Amino acid sequence: MSTNLLDLDLAAVAAFCEQLGEKRFRATQLYRWIHQRGASDFDQMSDLAKSLREKLKGCAHVSALPVLSEHVSSDGTVKWLFDVGGGNAVETVFIPEEDRGTLCISSQAGCAVGCRFCSTGHQGFSRNLTTGEIVAQLWFAEHTLRGRRGSDERVISNVVMMGMGEPLQNYSALVPALRTMLDDHAYGLSRRRVTVSTSGVVPMIDRLAQDCPVALAVSLHAPGNALRDTLVPLNRKYPLAELLGACERYLEHAPRDFITFEYCMLDGVNDQPEHAREIIALVNGSAGTRVPCKFNLIPFNPFPASGLRRSSNAAVMAFAKLLSDAGIVTTVRKTRGDDIDAACGQLAGDVKDRTKVGERMAKLRTIPIQPVP
Ligand code: SAH
Ligand code: SF4
Repeated sequence: MSTNLLDLDLAAVAAFCEQLGEKRFRATQLYRWIHQRGASDFDQMSDLAKSLREKLKGCAHVSALPVLSEHVSSDGTVKWLFDVGGGNAVETVFIPEEDRGTLCISSQAGCAVGCRFCSTGHQGFSRNLTTGEIVAQLWFAEHTLRGRRGSDERVISNVVMMGMGEPLQNYSALVPALRTMLDDHAYGLSRRRVTVSTSGVVPMIDRLAQDCPVALAVSLHAPGNALRDTLVPLNRKYPLAELLGACERYLEHAPRDFITFEYCMLDGVNDQPEHAREIIALVNGSAGTRVPCKFNLIPFNPFPASGLRRSSNAAVMAFAKLLSDAGIVTTVRKTRGDDIDAACGQLAGDVKDRTKVGERMAKLRTIPIQPVP
């Protein structure tokens, strides 16, 4: 059996090399060739002994994901659709900005959480991606873009786990992938520039704090449990009080001293002034000790099956002002790559649903969301 080396973090490459009877430092060389230089052919790895290269050819490979399509937006955003087999495809988006390059990575083919406003959620769930499939998105994007720019300079400075899937429901594959993103012998990204976004898998937030603390974004979307239950079904398992408790505990280990709360602005559903006031009360807590947080308001990216509408700009601005006036740092997310459907929540890929999510979503669409008073 041949091992895809993209599946291994440095400790695992070291263990792999030891099994081959090689010194541990060879592992670092190999890992650097793969991630820093983008090499996939062992013959390129000129400072490894020929005997080791021959051994590796017999038992290992470095395999990216086949590209099904690539779209480049007028604003420079690039979206790739990758084939992950079995009729499933996942998407990855590169967003260039003046001072950074952000890659938005997928963690699952589909998603089982089934949020009402999310196009991935409406697709249902097929399977978890492997560590190698998560890392392959970064490996491919970084080295392809470097090649196009004709430079050895780093292109991707930030990673956000905000593509398809719930990263904390694929925890065992996620953590080694994060380690490779952070490792100085690989991509060397700062912990503050790698963000895991979650709909609120409370026990895994606690584990991430211990195993690999990186920046955390929590998809909040509602100030109260009744509304959040209908938008983010996972809320029934981990309601808001538990989620906020996990956020506070996370901050003791986090590389940043705040949590980012994402809030998708849905017309007439969660975007009214009273929702903003409830949000302020929620983060202030009963003891009046505020959860250190920032809010990122995301204009909803509509898709027909959702039956939902984007909030008006006026509603978004009024909501932002109420939060800011209460002393909460609030930003409104710019929509990027709109012309190539690369915006948040539009990453649908193509997923063979292996669950009943598709059916459940169809039923959900017939239930009205709590009316605005
Ligand atoms: N599963 C994780 C990460 C992937 S979703 C999570 O839910 O956090 C990344 C972000 O996109 C989340 O904040 C999600 O709520 C948001 N999102 C999903 N669908 C969207 C849509 N149609 N419009 C705007 N944002 C959306
Ligand atoms: Fe899954 Fe996140 Fe989409 Fe919810 S918003 S369905 S958790 S990908």
